[in-house]
Amino acid sequence: AKVLGGFAKAVGKEKVLGAFRLGTKEPEKERGRTFKDWLLQYTDNEMAHGIFDTIVSTLAAAHAYEISAAAVFSFFVAMKGFREVAIPPRGNRVNMENLAKVITSNGGDVWTNCPATRIVVGGGKATGVVVQKDGGEVEIASQVVISDIGPKATVELAGEDKFNEDYLRDTRTKLKPKPVTMVFVASDRPLWLEGEPAILMVVGARRITSVIPLSSISPQLAPPGQHLTFCFGSPVSNETRMDVEVEQGQILLDLKEQFPLFEEHGRVIKFDSRNIDDELPEMRARVGEGIGIETPISNLYNVGDACPAPGYTGSNAAAETAKRVAGIVGKRFKPGKA
Ligand SMILES: Cc1cc2nc3c(=O)[nH]c(=O)nc-3n(C[C@H](O)[C@H](O)[C@H](O)COP(=O)(O)OP(=O)(O)OC[C@H]3O[C@@H](n4cnc5c(N)ncnc54)[C@H](O)[C@@H]3O)c2cc1C
Repeated sequence: AKVLGGFAKAVGKEKVLGAFRLGTKEPEKERGRTFKDWLLQYTDNEMAHGIFDTIVSTLAAAHAYEISAAAVFSFFVAMKGFREVAIPPRGNRVNMENLAKVITSNGGDVWTNCPATRIVVGGGKATGVVVQKDGGEVEIASQVVISDIGPKATVELAGEDKFNEDYLRDTRTKLKPKPVTMVFVASDRPLWLEGEPAILMVVGARRITSVIPLSSISPQLAPPGQHLTFCFGSPVSNETRMDVEVEQGQILLDLKEQFPLFEEHGRVIKFDSRNIDDELPEMRARVGEGIGIETPISNLYNVGDACPAPGYTGSNAAAETAKRVAGIVGKRFKPGKA
């Protein structure tokens, strides 16, 4: 509601909001055009385009000129406009630890720091994995293999020759990992809003799209006696490799322009850039794109943000795929030896 209110103010036209509501009712009608082209039908107001580009590139993993209007509308429907945003003060690791407890308390094992080096495939079926453990390799036979490392990496571990050409083509054409540059800024005075958990979405900056006063949420992460601000920056194109130095330079200019206190009171403590071919990009697929959880290899499934249900993105998408695959596996397999 807040977003639409800001939008209405910027554009000042009720008809745009009406069209937006219609779009969310029938997203598929807008599959053929980008969100930017959809909006241009109603307005070329720079602020309106800026607001939506910031929202879309922060949440839907592409700029408004890179993603279909249908995908954006389906996102607003599925994620209910992302009105509820949560940041776990001690990080997402806590969620993982809680999930691990469920496994161990039910007699299972959780191995960490044991990278999988191979998915074992025989007769068109996944039959296990090979992992590194305690300096050696261990093969674990299994009825089902569920991979969370992204479909491209899954193909590498199982062997490209095991997949059909259609599937390999999909991994090339339907996965567009989102590049991102993050910056952590320490300051002896708050750069923006202190004491409040909040996200600032920035419109019209060179690269920065969102800002989080991290020390308001996780004070333990800040250097002693300092404030910590965390910003995300999106490159102009999510299609091509970003030039990391250029991105960081533009973000530095943004910091100076957006935060008057930065130059005197702040210092960058860390840049973290994830390019389009990073093992851990911001997201592995855009909203409305991605590939399925099933693979051409029996008993091998993918979960994660590369296989989003329509309208889903990021960690929500990943969690949704896990529920879907768990449902299938629960029906198809009974616990026991492979
Ligand atoms: C800076 C940043 C901010 C983000 N903010 C948000 C946000 O606010 N909201 C949101 O919804 N999403 C956000 N995302 C996106 C979100 O983090 C991802 O979409 C989500 O983590 C994807 O989950 P996943 O399970 O698909 O994969 P990942 O979280 O990428 O997990 C894959 C795991 O597999 C491991 N792995 C890789 N290879 C192997 C191997 N061979 N053997 C064993 N393990 C292996 C990796 O180490 C990794 O732990 C953000 C991402 C970044 C980078």
